[in-house]
Amino acid sequence: MNQPLRVRYAPSPTGHLHIGGARTALFDYLLARRHGGAFVVRFEDTDQTRHKESGIADQLNGLKWLGLEWDESVDIGGPYAPYRQMERLDIYKKYLDQLLESGHAYHCYCSESDLEQERAEQEARGEMGGYSGKCRNLTAEQIAAYQAEGRQPSTRFRVPADRVIGFEDKVREHVEFDSNGIGDFIIARPDGIPTYNFAVIVDDHTMNINLVIRGEEHLSNTPRQILMYEALGMPVPEFAHLALILNQDRKKMSKRDESIIQFIEQYKELGYLPEAVLNFIALLGWSPGGEEEMFSKEELIAQFDLERVSKSPAVFDMDKLNWMNNAYLKKAPLSRVVDLCVPHLVKAGYIQADLDAASQEWVTALVGLNQERMRYAAEIVELASLFFKEELVIDDEAAAVLKEEHVPAVLSAFLAQVEQAEAFTVEAIPALLKAVQKETGYKGKQLFMSIRSALTGQVHGPDLNVSLYLLGKEKVAARLRSLL
Ligand code: GLU
Repeated sequence: MNQPLRVRYAPSPTGHLHIGGARTALFDYLLARRHGGAFVVRFEDTDQTRHKESGIADQLNGLKWLGLEWDESVDIGGPYAPYRQMERLDIYKKYLDQLLESGHAYHCYCSESDLEQERAEQEARGEMGGYSGKCRNLTAEQIAAYQAEGRQPSTRFRVPADRVIGFEDKVREHVEFDSNGIGDFIIARPDGIPTYNFAVIVDDHTMNINLVIRGEEHLSNTPRQILMYEALGMPVPEFAHLALILNQDRKKMSKRDESIIQFIEQYKELGYLPEAVLNFIALLGWSPGGEEEMFSKEELIAQFDLERVSKSPAVFDMDKLNWMNNAYLKKAPLSRVVDLCVPHLVKAGYIQADLDAASQEWVTALVGLNQERMRYAAEIVELASLFFKEELVIDDEAAAVLKEEHVPAVLSAFLAQVEQAEAFTVEAIPALLKAVQKETGYKGKQLFMSIRSALTGQVHGPDLNVSLYLLGKEKVAARLRSLL
């Protein structure tokens, strides 16, 4: 390719950024950055029934959160503006007229009920073709009669017979379609608004897009689009159709599938790290070739190519994503993880939104204690509940420990220490435990396991000093008293 690479992500703004769209955008972005090209984000908003005005901002916010900066779009403009289809209607009109004049398109006066009847008749005959071509060669009288009835025509593309339409897909390699399987399709509705297949080629052409990356569900649209490029004498861009993303049961993902989190917005809300989600999405269909699975955005830009994108479906493995996010969380600076956790703790009612210095220290210790095991930040609420519960739940193992003979002596000595302690900080607590050891003669497991079981209800858990500090002097003393 001698021209600089120009790729685009062209969502219909019907809602939040979905994992499938995010993958298309990511692959676009990586190639554009790798080859010094341009990444365009434009919007296919001609379907007014599905359109949501917030959809544009929702899509852009999702991309922004993932770190996929675009070079041209509705917000920043660009040399090929406008970037939403409803503002480009005059452009489509020009090419539509061209197709009508050259005879590659014609007006079709069939109403919805005419078409339904036609379909029913075809079905009854056991045929499954598309549109019969009824309006292909209307006479001037027939047209006048339809017009007299007040019918507004839609515009159809005249699909040539007996053509094999082949192309070299960058992912699927050679793909072929027989034009006889494609009925004349609608390219503009009676109100003049173009349909997807027509608007998309006009956009791709007028925006100089030379590589089209999109989901495999569009594969059967591609021969239609190629025929229109040819009819308009336009060069055909290259295509790369990405295989489906399957859910964990290896079934086609439906938007209602709750076993996986499908929208980027949800990851943001749950406190995932964008670089982890980005890394994970890159591996949905692309494989780097080695064992390594952790890639920063810069590494992906340096390594990504379509040659290593698989033809077979990718399986969305939620456990793997959680594993990966945990790995990124472990490496993240504690202050960043704290910032991710705070909104969740506030929402749970555990802390106030404006933290004073002591609370800031407390939250930092809480998050630090759990940073290694959190899969995503929202889990902090569950992990923190231990420090807020009024009633301590004691599990069987801890209950067994608490029946041991030495326990009352250890607990009452510790209570005495706690009561007279001036500071109950992470640094001060070891000295209190040491004093209990000295006084009772119990040490190691007998000392620590008793105290842990009494105060956390479990025999295992995170760092004891930090856990005691997080519980705080009052709660520790109260729990010990109630047990004794
Ligand atoms: N609006 C289409 C979609 O979201 C775009 C298809 C294409 O990229 O050509 O699937």
